[in-house]
Amino acid sequence: MTALLKGETGDWEMVIGLEVHAQVLTKSKLFSGASAEFGGAPNTHVSPVDAGMPGMLPVINKECVKKAVMTGLGLNAKINNVSVFERKNYFYPDLPQGYQISQYQHPIVGEGSIEIDLPDGSVKVVGIERLHLEQDAGKSLHDQHPQKSYVDLNRSGNPLMEIVSKPDMRSPEEAGAYVTKLRAIVRYLGTCDGNMDEGSMRCDVNVSVRKPGAELGTRCEIKNVNSVRFVQQAIEFEARRQIEIIEGGGVIKQETRLFDTSNGTTRSMRSKEDAHDYRYFPDPDLLPLTVEDGFIEDIRKTMPELPDAKKQRFMDEYGLSHQDASVLIGERERGDFFEKVAKGHDAKLASNWVLSELLGALHKAEKDLKDSPVTAEQLGELIGLIEDDTISGRIAKEVFAEMFGTGKNAGDIVEARGLKQVTDTGEIEKIVDAVLAENPDKIEQYKGGKDKLFGFFVGQVMKKSGGKANPGMVNDLLKKKLEA
Ligand code: ADP
Ligand code: MG
Repeated sequence: MTALLKGETGDWEMVIGLEVHAQVLTKSKLFSGASAEFGGAPNTHVSPVDAGMPGMLPVINKECVKKAVMTGLGLNAKINNVSVFERKNYFYPDLPQGYQISQYQHPIVGEGSIEIDLPDGSVKVVGIERLHLEQDAGKSLHDQHPQKSYVDLNRSGNPLMEIVSKPDMRSPEEAGAYVTKLRAIVRYLGTCDGNMDEGSMRCDVNVSVRKPGAELGTRCEIKNVNSVRFVQQAIEFEARRQIEIIEGGGVIKQETRLFDTSNGTTRSMRSKEDAHDYRYFPDPDLLPLTVEDGFIEDIRKTMPELPDAKKQRFMDEYGLSHQDASVLIGERERGDFFEKVAKGHDAKLASNWVLSELLGALHKAEKDLKDSPVTAEQLGELIGLIEDDTISGRIAKEVFAEMFGTGKNAGDIVEARGLKQVTDTGEIEKIVDAVLAENPDKIEQYKGGKDKLFGFFVGQVMKKSGGKANPGMVNDLLKKKLEA
């Protein structure tokens, strides 16, 4: 699914690679025991290590190592038995150590891959270059005082996984699908909460353009983009900007740019520093990190079923379409909910009800699935009532609306409102006869060849029955009488 952009000199192809920073879901920081929780009063989650006090020694948090390994396994990646923490040296007021402890030449996770699901239903594999562990920096606050800047070190030392893709994506849609799938994987694994609003997942977006088939062009890196929509907007804008420059006879300078969420544009932040500017060297306070095969295998055994496997299983086991299965597995809770609804019921009916009715109602009410007023068991009961012909699909929608509004059970609503479907032939026949008696002209037209009127008769009978007549029986009876 290569989306080409039209320029004056012909078609251009976008080339995109993403570096995603995902905060490891742990209680404490990468090298200290301070809380890694989001928020808190400024400078309350700070140990002397995070404040860069001289003489403090970092100690690796084993939980972060486990979760990085688990994430690597989830990305079908090679886990490196030995990796090395290095100092990446630079000065920033919110980096009190004067360097960031990161991994460089020897990351904990090597090459892997992710399958992404594209809007047209196809699947594409995007390569993963590496995943490494590193510390987050603190935060400078420039809007608290007219003359002064403040610094909040709560985030300083938080554990991050930097997940670097290969430059394999060719459109904003592919980049969006990549971030969506990566987010689903880490959330299934519980290694990152994937909360982009709180910054626990953020993307650096690398974009270049080229003529199809040509060598890779010079890229620009757009820093810290924090939603899927912004990632896509940034790519779209940046690719067009680069094409304009090249077609105007200019060249692209490799640089770091910022995305302006207010108008969807990017602007230059600084020219790109090279790795040698950081003077990376192995941190003398930390031994090389060794993870044994046994440790890796123990982690593998605790891994849950991942989105792709679940999608395949939903297609095989329940006969769902690729499209429906893809939406259902998008969130782990959604897939679990569906399976509970489907238990003992028709799976396609269950999937339709979850996907269109329930998710639609939740979306309208701005509610999450976990706050759904209708439980999976309750939705299952409603579907049971459709299956055993107690109510029609149309009445079921009414019942559902009341369930959603009140939290009541389907059976109770049907009972209280007398919505039980009429399946008594005699009773339906009475209504059919009444409708026919009221419309002699229409019967004439129907018999004269106006077949479409059949729907009119069905509609009238259903209406007269308050929607409760069994539609199949109405059809049969009408056919019999009209053809007599
Ligand atoms: P650095 O560490 O300097 O940021 P990397 O080589 O690690 O550089 O690449 C960073 C990201 O840029 C990767 O996700 C990679 O896929 C992407 N990338 C590399 N070359 C290009 C290019 N020509 N166009 C678009 N993205 C690219
Ligand atoms: Mg980079």
